[in-house]
Amino acid sequence: MSVVTRFAPSPTGYLHVGGARTALYSWLYAKRRGGRFVLRIEDTDRERSTDDAVQVILDAMNWLGLDHDGEIAYQTQRFDRYAEVIEQLLAEGKAYRCYASAEDVEAMRESARARGEKPKYDGTWRPMPGKTLPEPPAGVEPVIRFATPLSGTTVIPDLVKGDITISNTELDDLVIARADGTPTYNFCVVVDDMDMGITHVIRGDDHVNNTPRQINILKALIGDEADLPAYAHVPMILGPDGKRLSKRHGAVGVMTFRDMGILPGALLNYLVRLGWAHGDQEIFTRDEMIAHFDIANVQGGASTFDPEKLTWVNQEHIKAAEPADLVDELAFHLARHDIQDLSAARLAEIAAVQQARCKTMAEMAEASLFLFSAPAEYDAKAVKKHIKTATPALLADVHGALSDLAEWQGAAITEAVRGVAEANEVGMGKVAQPIRIALTGGPVSPSIDDTLVLLGRDATLARLQTAVDVFDQ
Ligand code: GLU
Repeated sequence: MSVVTRFAPSPTGYLHVGGARTALYSWLYAKRRGGRFVLRIEDTDRERSTDDAVQVILDAMNWLGLDHDGEIAYQTQRFDRYAEVIEQLLAEGKAYRCYASAEDVEAMRESARARGEKPKYDGTWRPMPGKTLPEPPAGVEPVIRFATPLSGTTVIPDLVKGDITISNTELDDLVIARADGTPTYNFCVVVDDMDMGITHVIRGDDHVNNTPRQINILKALIGDEADLPAYAHVPMILGPDGKRLSKRHGAVGVMTFRDMGILPGALLNYLVRLGWAHGDQEIFTRDEMIAHFDIANVQGGASTFDPEKLTWVNQEHIKAAEPADLVDELAFHLARHDIQDLSAARLAEIAAVQQARCKTMAEMAEASLFLFSAPAEYDAKAVKKHIKTATPALLADVHGALSDLAEWQGAAITEAVRGVAEANEVGMGKVAQPIRIALTGGPVSPSIDDTLVLLGRDATLARLQTAVDVFDQ
């Protein structure tokens, strides 16, 4: 059987990390099995869905690299198909027109409650052998209800939670089309899953209640139970306070993590481990995730979002990355400081020097800003600590030694600076820190040779000269 999974977000906001994890699990499951991963936008709720939100989801999926197969399906473009299936169910007697008003239905529920039963629609308009239906009231457009089996059980074959069995008597005759003809959510999902040949429905466990309803409709449509998809309901992600992760906990939208300087691969790595393990391995490349992921190993309990661990995972990914693979994110973060149009080669050169030192890409961009403009001022604390009476003369010597270098290259630079320290009988630190301050404005930068190589000869010499002039006063 060829696997087809799907991600089916409702475009009512940003892409939440919970949604991103569900998408990741669906994507990994399909990738590992050489299957297809489809994307479906569940935009039938016109009041809550927006085009902007669709774009935000697509951008986030794209940034995460969760590529989908085939065209994106939009539910709002499939109304004709839903209407066709509703007609089919009506014709087959598997759905019926119901003329009960909202007040009627409320009254039915109320009386069920009064009898100590589960509040439900009472089946007034459901055709039954030998039953005479009431006369449809004039001028009332009916809703369409699905005729849920009156007995028996529905089993959800859940790959995460194990089989979940629900008695059909618990289930209402679900409204599948409203009085205005528009199909309802659970119905659209079923038609789509059927038409798209979905073999594995992987989604948040907030949908468990919908699943028996969906399974019953699916059975009515496809007949053969053997063709039902498998389900995997993935537990919620909780905030550190044990409550469902939400805006209250700070960043939860995928693109906010980008803004914070998290790498897409690191976010995926962090998310895959929330609720799934492969031995005690913590760091996974994309290919390793694909090779090892199995939905059967996803744990049934909720997991807790831990921002500190995410930062740690991110740092590990930055350290291990090929510099070329950091270029896009570094460019994105530098652009936020108005630094643009750098070549990929230049960005990779910067990333190669900075990657051992930064926890986030935002940090890397910030730590690299000195490359693009001379210090507007020098950090007062650093000046107090490192700039002594003898410093201008030392920096002037460094300027002289570096000016003489035939080649602007790491080992030669280190040797020239060491030569100045030795000639003046001071430690390297006495020279290195003033150089850093002269070049970057502060006492922190990569190693002296890396800093100077990155900055280049002209800028280095100009900034040293400025520092000599300023500190000499
Ligand atoms: N559209 C639903 C949501 O955003 C997902 C439905 C599903 O996966 O079946 O929660």
